[in-house]
Amino acid sequence: MRPFSYIQAREERSAIELVTSQPQSVFLAGGTTLLDLMKLEVMTPDHVVDINPLALTGIETLPNGGLRIGAMVRNSDMAYHDAVRRNYPLLSEAILQGASEQLRNMATLGGNIMQRTRCPYFRDTTQPCNKREPGSGCSALNGFNRIHAVLGVSSRCIAAHPSDMCVALAALDAVIHTRGPRGERDIPFNAFHLLPGDHPERETVLEPGELITAITVPPLPFATRSLYLKLRDRASYAFALVSVAAALDLQGRTIRNARLALGGVGARPWRAKEAEKALIGKPATEATYQEAAAVALHGAKPAKYNAFKVELAKRAIVRTLTTLGEQA
Ligand code: SF4
Repeated sequence: MRPFSYIQAREERSAIELVTSQPQSVFLAGGTTLLDLMKLEVMTPDHVVDINPLALTGIETLPNGGLRIGAMVRNSDMAYHDAVRRNYPLLSEAILQGASEQLRNMATLGGNIMQRTRCPYFRDTTQPCNKREPGSGCSALNGFNRIHAVLGVSSRCIAAHPSDMCVALAALDAVIHTRGPRGERDIPFNAFHLLPGDHPERETVLEPGELITAITVPPLPFATRSLYLKLRDRASYAFALVSVAAALDLQGRTIRNARLALGGVGARPWRAKEAEKALIGKPATEATYQEAAAVALHGAKPAKYNAFKVELAKRAIVRTLTTLGEQA
């Protein structure tokens, strides 16, 4: 690990000033990604600004029934919060299927949103990687690319976004609240993460020194009928090969509304809006679910070792929707 300076910030403003005023500065929240990457020398900041003292740990029910969740809320606290479990089961389930209990106790909401890819070439500084070192090449394109993305990929990067929680937040149309040198702004969750395109090193729309302070999850009454299905190589402490976050609103056996997002297959948390349109107004049958699954994976671009994800994702979508459709 390279030497770096460390300082604790006690207020949002001073945290932002510290990161903005010194080049090569980063915010430190739970540290469950950052410290790993610093030990591997994938990230080599000169200055680390610890934001753990910031008062961003509240979970508040809003007058409209939605939730505002502070960026420093630990994943465990969020997953077990009564309102999250009751109103957004898919969010609680997604968090609890991520990482391990110890990591969930440390990891924060803001850090989870900023999580970096698990592409092994990104984490190995002896290998070319456009995301780590722009212009160096992508080792995964012709390498062992079994865990990589099939949707939203580019010729410069095929890394999959690793978060489970973000898949649920994409389905729920969350809004990310930030504060930075130029003031505050609200960013729709599905506009926050960038596709790799020609610049895979740029992963989000955050500006230098901009701090995530909270998210808002809007009310979604039919999210009480929701589910997060995660398929992975081992039953725990493994990243998703494919995951599905879904909610169904049924009137009789007709689908009145639907939410669908995918994990493990997209270069970012993948909201499947066209597939949702294919569900709405249709009967809640396997044929409808299969059609929506085909729409969701339309345009997938598998590499040599991850073509199985296309069929696996389709089956996972059908299984998730079938389970939801059978719930009373
Ligand atoms: Fe790097 Fe992306 Fe290629 Fe992985 S897939 S080696 S992160 S450029």
